[in-house]
Amino acid sequence: MTLTLAHPLPFCSSSHVSHSSPTNFSIRFKLQASSSQQLSSNPKSPSSQSLSQRKTGVIVIGAGLAGLAAANRLNSENIPFLLLEASDGVGGRVRTDIVDGFLLDRGFQIFITAYPEAQKLLDYQALDLQRFYSGARIYFNGQFHTVADPIRHFWDSIKSLTNPIGSIIDKLLIGSTRIQVLTKSDDELLSSNEVTTIDLLRNIGFSDSIICRFFRPFFGGIFFDRELQTTSRLFNFIFKCLALGDNTLPAKGIVAIPNQLVAKLPPDSVLLNTRVASIEFHEPSSGEITTPRVRLENGEILESEIGVILAVEEPEVDKLLAGRKMEPIQRKPPRSTVCVYFSADRDSIPVQDPVLFLNGSGEGIINNMFFATNVAPSYGPPGKALMSVSLIGLLEDVSDEDLTSQIVQELSGWFGGSIVKPWKYLRTYRIGFAQPNQCPPTDLKKNYRVEPGLYLCGDYMTNATFDGALVSGRKAVEALLRDRVLNKV
Ligand SMILES: Cc1cc2nc3c(=O)[nH]c(=O)nc-3n(C[C@H](O)[C@H](O)[C@H](O)COP(=O)(O)OP(=O)(O)OC[C@H]3O[C@@H](n4cnc5c(N)ncnc54)[C@H](O)[C@@H]3O)c2cc1C
Repeated sequence: MTLTLAHPLPFCSSSHVSHSSPTNFSIRFKLQASSSQQLSSNPKSPSSQSLSQRKTGVIVIGAGLAGLAAANRLNSENIPFLLLEASDGVGGRVRTDIVDGFLLDRGFQIFITAYPEAQKLLDYQALDLQRFYSGARIYFNGQFHTVADPIRHFWDSIKSLTNPIGSIIDKLLIGSTRIQVLTKSDDELLSSNEVTTIDLLRNIGFSDSIICRFFRPFFGGIFFDRELQTTSRLFNFIFKCLALGDNTLPAKGIVAIPNQLVAKLPPDSVLLNTRVASIEFHEPSSGEITTPRVRLENGEILESEIGVILAVEEPEVDKLLAGRKMEPIQRKPPRSTVCVYFSADRDSIPVQDPVLFLNGSGEGIINNMFFATNVAPSYGPPGKALMSVSLIGLLEDVSDEDLTSQIVQELSGWFGGSIVKPWKYLRTYRIGFAQPNQCPPTDLKKNYRVEPGLYLCGDYMTNATFDGALVSGRKAVEALLRDRVLNKV
């Protein structure tokens, strides 16, 4: 049976609350004997109106940031659409769960206010953004050392000039690198000649000490790549955004970002728990142009009038478009991470600053950690502190229990056993596909149009950041609109 968006699909209401479960992109966590709910997105709850009474122009598959940006752009062009999402909430990789009153982002995520596309799409004031300290505290040689942004924390940066996290020359080089990136446009940075980040840092002249003690844990934590093999294009873009903006968390969790985007969409336009199983292509008779059909997991087939925008993760694109006008697929391994949460009494934690701690020791499994409630008190119930600890890679061969005890042991070395041992374990997130691999050679300006009527977006099309995903959603719609103007669909 073929329907033109004419089947009652499983809808989700904004009040949906469920026990968390793993999703298909490898988030695994343990449910403790604790109350757990997902901090739900707020898609308009479809009414009892049947789909057969509605027409749509475009089907968008995937309600991560890319799909939400595409939907928002279609909405601003008054083009009807349906946004189909396999999971039980919007946001894709940008989700937050509530556990025992704590807000647990699914992995350590930071929103940089200088992201240019985000500035156009999001209402920052409504997000109630809570700032990190502009810099970091680095654990090295049994002590903590501060690295501070000289513009925002001048005296801290003066004091840090002689610490062992790099030489004075390194600190001057950070200043000159900052000026370099600030004088270039984002487009220039993202399309310039590329090398790996580690080669770029060495070419600039940074010493091994600042590379190992600061750049590896800091940018390794952003790229989930401690070897710093990620393209210099992404390093330069992020470095510029960090220079121009603040590192923040929305007071209501990172999911507040997709929630804000979905709240702007028309009622009934977002269908959760609606997995697309395949995309089917008509073989047109000569001269005829057709849009592909979308087959849902439940066997139903949907058709659109203008086109389909595929806004899913890169591995899912490979599956859905297998054999269809895709370049030969030889993907480099994706980036993975593990994030472990703990709680404690707020007055028992060793610091109250909203600062990111980095492991610059070159030993152990922890890459970075922070006291989330120091940045955003709303991440925990009154009087309680939330700690977030991040590791790079999936560490599949180590059980959650062993990881937890290793983390507690390491952090006991940092802060003292009497402080850390009473911390209560909350949850482990293992995220297999955190980001696509972005080692050179990269093409961060791919073609958004597979063929007339079928378009791609997602972070793998631009750069694996919130901003890259948002840009890609807009660009996919722009490609669709160009085809429409040219009367190709
Ligand atoms: C732990 C972690 C930390 C991060 N930290 C940062 C950070 O600090 N700053 C930053 O800028 N970026 C960060 N990122 C990267 C950023 O989150 C991603 O680049 C971005 O969110 C990707 O958005 P997307 O829409 O392209 O993909 P996704 O978010 O993966 O969305 C794809 C959507 O498609 C849905 N889908 C898949 N298959 C189907 C199907 N068959 N049918 C229907 N729906 C389907 C999925 O359920 C999902 O909702 C982080 C990522 C992770 C995982």
